[in-house]
Amino acid sequence: MAGTLTVLVVGDVPLRDASTRALPGAVAEHCTDLLSGVLQAGRVRASHIILSAEADGDLAPAVAAIRKIAPHARIVAACPPRLEPRVRLARRHGIDDYVVTPIADEELRRALRWSTPEEAGASHPPPPPSPSPADREAWQRLTHVLNQIGGSNGGLIEGWAHWLRGVARASGATVEWNGCAVRTGESDPIRVERLIQRGVEVVGRIVLDFPQLDAAAAREAETCAADWVAVILAGMAAHDDLAAWRRLALTDELTGLHNRRFFERELDALLETAIERRQRATLLLFDIDDFKRYNDALGHDVGDALLREIAMLLMRCSRREDIVCRYGGDEFAVVFRDSPEPRVVGSGHPTAADALHERFLRAIAEHSFRCLGPSAPATVTVSGGLAGFPWDGRTRSELVRAADAALMRAKAAGRNRIVLAGPDAADPGGPG
Ligand code: GH3
Ligand code: MG
Repeated sequence: MAGTLTVLVVGDVPLRDASTRALPGAVAEHCTDLLSGVLQAGRVRASHIILSAEADGDLAPAVAAIRKIAPHARIVAACPPRLEPRVRLARRHGIDDYVVTPIADEELRRALRWSTPEEAGASHPPPPPSPSPADREAWQRLTHVLNQIGGSNGGLIEGWAHWLRGVARASGATVEWNGCAVRTGESDPIRVERLIQRGVEVVGRIVLDFPQLDAAAAREAETCAADWVAVILAGMAAHDDLAAWRRLALTDELTGLHNRRFFERELDALLETAIERRQRATLLLFDIDDFKRYNDALGHDVGDALLREIAMLLMRCSRREDIVCRYGGDEFAVVFRDSPEPRVVGSGHPTAADALHERFLRAIAEHSFRCLGPSAPATVTVSGGLAGFPWDGRTRSELVRAADAALMRAKAAGRNRIVLAGPDAADPGGPG
């Protein structure tokens, strides 16, 4: 409503009175000099500003400042006929229009583009329609898609297909992205297709199905398809970025294994599930024996290559479901996701862990480490400690402490072996 608008009048009292008379219902703020006008413009957020060209101060810079502070306000200068040339000049600095004093009400309203409440009622466009259930559903689907960013590719692409079908009011929608295609809804004879391109590279395609579509609706769908593709591209770029950052954050650069941050996160999650479902879990921590000697004798680069080769062997010996990480330095960790069955009375360490460390010790013993060349200072061996949930610890730190203590015992017992955690633990993996 025009009546709720705020007008700032900068000038003498007669100008203020003339303005309020011409603008019924307006909230009028008033000051007399231009400098105060600039300050007031920032404070009151007036939609309309009337400046007297006779007010104290320099008109052109005051107008320029007000224009910066209130870029959308309508600014009108009021001047006696003799000052018209000066005011015309001030238009360059941001005055929208001017009126000559004495002010005629109608003239001022016209210059301000002001409508009386009655005129406003007659000329205001009807309020926008409230969103339809279909619009709301499309927004909800978009929210769902945004929540999927960083999750699985398939889930995200499926989310896009559902969103697209809703936003296009299509009976079916297909989204193809990097060779993965997801179709939702019906397959209908009228199709609108658009390629998804990153620069010149085609990375996917959207297809919308309609049972019928007149020429105007088809044109609109074609036009909107470009916007929908832009939304999908932006979302997928965010998804790819997130995946790349996540990979970087959770990967050990030297070996390509997961790093300690990943290990801690995964072990916490695994223990949570294990507690809930009464499952078993096992942690194997191991450390290369006398690793410093390789560094000292053959150089740091060879030490790095040895770490990479050990990591590769470890990956070869482990199962897909094991979590294999470089814990730090020459220390590695493997977490075994054992059988999903709840543990029963009398159950002990999962056999998968025993199988892995046996396989691994054998693999190291049989492997010829090419990176070491003929002048290797010794045969490569490792020592490890094995701790099981819930026997040796119920939390990550308890388990790590128990496995680390067992590892220390393996070192003290002569290295090249795996020792079970626990006060009277057996030594299952000695050099034999
Ligand atoms: P121990 O049998 O007691 O384990 O003896 P060790 O010589 O292996 O001693 P320790 O495990 O304490 O030393 C690990 C060494 O690994 C110390 C450090 O200089 C070296 N190291 C740590 N990170 C890296 C790395 O990324 N590359 C290389 N080349 N060396 C590393
Ligand atoms: Mg070591």
